[in-house]
Formats: sequence, C-alpha cells, structure tokens
Amino acid sequence: MSEPEAAAPLLRILGVVKRFGEHTVLDGIDLEVGRHEVVVLIGASGSGKSTLLKTVNLLEQVDDGRILLGRADAPGEAAEDITDPRIDADRVRGRIGVVFQHYNLFPHLRVLDNVTLAARKVHRAGRAEAERTGLELLERIGLAEKAREYPDRLSGGQQQRVAIARAIATDPDLLLLDEITSALDPQLVGEVLDLVRELKTQGSTILMATHEMSFARRVADRVVYLKDGRIVESGPPAQIFDAPEREETREFLSRLR
Ligand code: ADP
Ligand code: MG
Repeated sequence: MSEPEAAAPLLRILGVVKRFGEHTVLDGIDLEVGRHEVVVLIGASGSGKSTLLKTVNLLEQVDDGRILLGRADAPGEAAEDITDPRIDADRVRGRIGVVFQHYNLFPHLRVLDNVTLAARKVHRAGRAEAERTGLELLERIGLAEKAREYPDRLSGGQQQRVAIARAIATDPDLLLLDEITSALDPQLVGEVLDLVRELKTQGSTILMATHEMSFARRVADRVVYLKDGRIVESGPPAQIFDAPEREETREFLSRLR
C-alpha cells in the first residue's frame, strides 16, 4: 500500500495586500494553516489582525494576492480560490465559522434559535434536526438549561460560548476567532478559552487573534507575530515566547510583561 500524500494545508494566504486609501494595512501576507492546526495571531492594536481575518471571511476584499480554502473532510480535493471575484461569497462564508469580540448573538432570538439559525437558513436543515443538533451543542458547552433564554440573561462568557456553539453548528471547515475574550471580565476568560481548547482537541482548524499570551503558549500550534501589516516572525510557541529570533518580536513581548 502506498503512503497517503501529505494533505495540503486547509488555508493558504498568498501575498495578500489590503489598503485603506493610502494606508497599506496588510503588506504581503503569506500564511498557511494546516488541517487541525491552531494558528494564533499576535501583535499590537492596529497591526492588521482583524483585517486579515476579515479578508479570509470575505468581509474585506484583497487588493492583491489570493486565498485558497480546502475542505476539512476532503484532503484530496483541490482548494478553492475564495478571492476569485466570481465566487459566491455567501457559500464561502457558510464554510467558515466566525466569532468576534462583540455583538455575536441576535438579542431578539433565544439562545437555541441563535445557535440553529445558520443551520436552518444557510444549510436548509429542518427545524427539528437543527434543534436537536443545537441542543446537543448547548449540552456540550454546559448551557443546555439556557436554551430558551434571551442572550441578555447570560453572562458575557456564556454569550461567547454560545457564539462559539453557533459558529460550529454548521460544521465549518475553518474557525476564525477575533479577540473573543477581550471584552470579558477576567474571571470569565477561562471558560471561553477552555472551550476553544476543547475544539482543538476535537480536531477543529482555527485561525485566531488574541491578547491572551498564556493561552497562545498553551494551545497554539503556531504563533504568528504581525507588525504593521507584515509577519515579523512565526513559529511554535516555545520559539516565539522563549527564544524569538527577531529583535522586534522580543521588544513586543517585553512590553507586555
Ligand atoms: P488589529 O486587529 O491588529 O488591531 P486592524 O486590522 O483592526 O488591526 O486594523 C489595522 C489597520 O487598518 C488600523 O490602522 C486600522 O485603523 C485600519 N483599518 C481597519 N479597518 C479599516 C477601515 N474599514 N477603513 C480604514 N482603515 C481601517
Ligand atoms: Mg482587531
């Protein structure tokens, strides 16, 4: 029997450039995310982390470069160029789960309906099936008893856990998480990051931005330090945090301590 070919990376960001007017916010980003890999973006505010995540989710158009997305469940299948202008952006977004810092849940929908909405709308699942899956997910994150509540009855940490449940309800190929704990009281950060760690254990592929360096150290397969829209250095957490090769990385990290 022949060895299976090494699977191509799930996500390939190739020479991505993004400008806002005169301001080059992403200045030639090359980054790959392998299947089941957790890649963590770090960098000062304004370094381009959110913009990079938004280009992957097609919330921002790139000015140059390409982004290729493969299928999590079909490693042999050719990746698709999601920056091709002819692409169906809604379909691509349906393959990607996203959680932002704020405002992830619809306030007028109960928790369960928040979780099942995308499955029902985008993926045309029936109500009964979507609700069964939604309740299973809420059980997994320990919030089944909140299914019929409105989001404002939940703590910020619980809301973010529901937002994560919603993001994975459609079984996306890729998860994008943008500073999902930065609006939370410190005592609520742990429960959200524990859930991210559990998703990693279960094989999710995750590209995320965070200020939580201790989390990045424990959970990231690879840490990417962004500065002024460029990747200064990327590597396993032990390299980035304990033995950075670049002076700029060392400076950034020393300012955090
Ligand atoms: P980070 O997430 O690392 O804090 P961002 O990606 O949000 O950084 O921002 C990178 C730079 O792009 C910042 O200088 C920001 O002001 C600028 N920027 C982001 N979005 C826009 C926009 N829609 N219009 C103009 N400038 C923007
Ligand atoms: Mg940001």
